[in-house]
Amino acid sequence: MTISPSLRAVNLTKTYHVNELVWAIRNLYLDIFAGDFVVLAGPSGSGKSTLLHLLAGLDRPIYGDVVLEGQRYSRLDEDGLARLRRSKMGFVYQFFNLISYLSAEDNVALPLQFAGRPLPAARRRAAELLSLVGMDQRRRHLPSQLSGGEQQRVAIARAMANEPDFLLADEPTGNLDSHRAHDIVELFARLNRDMGKTVVVVSHSDLFHRYANRVLGMLDGRLDTEQRRVGGELRPVEHRR
Ligand code: ADP
Ligand code: MG
Repeated sequence: MTISPSLRAVNLTKTYHVNELVWAIRNLYLDIFAGDFVVLAGPSGSGKSTLLHLLAGLDRPIYGDVVLEGQRYSRLDEDGLARLRRSKMGFVYQFFNLISYLSAEDNVALPLQFAGRPLPAARRRAAELLSLVGMDQRRRHLPSQLSGGEQQRVAIARAMANEPDFLLADEPTGNLDSHRAHDIVELFARLNRDMGKTVVVVSHSDLFHRYANRVLGMLDGRLDTEQRRVGGELRPVEHRR
């Protein structure tokens, strides 16, 4: 039996043009399978954030496509893509991106309200999600009243709000001290292992490696190296370009 990939990049290509043309992602092919825990590594400027945004449908390629469970992004208009993203993807940022004047609970309730839930029901669900990430004692706190690690927990709860299959995170521990970073790594591991979330995380550090089943190394907009977990250890695999 062959398992079909649930998230696929096909000849994905993205350029930016400021003073000169930058090939941020070049002819990239990638298959991500349900249940994967993928780390995207590579030097600064290698295209990790651009790739993650394209995979999330937050940005459009110049050519090539992303296919999520059979749905091609190129066939969807902005509303269709936003709807698909809302139902399937949770996104976590390095700097948390919480809304400063909303409580932790209301930050988590917001995507539920966007999806059509009335506020009281959204808040009840938000409270459950906050307890899932160990933040039930901080529901009424504003982001400014929380530590960085706590804010990231709230952001992860928010990403989980609409029960996405995928959690995509761009340097989610990049702004945290090592102790808090470790907690966040453990939280992603738990969501992958116990809740079956497919995780794709951009990270400079090797903190996530012990839980990853694949570590992809990017260079100049391409996938340059891949390691896969075989018999408990990450081992290099030959990469097709
Ligand atoms: P990484 O996340 O690996 O550091 P990025 O995906 O942010 O890399 O960037 C890849 C390349 O694209 C870099 O050369 C960067 O300067 C360029 N780039 C990224 N975003 C933009 C943008 N909005 N406008 C112009 N160039 C950009
Ligand atoms: Mg980046």
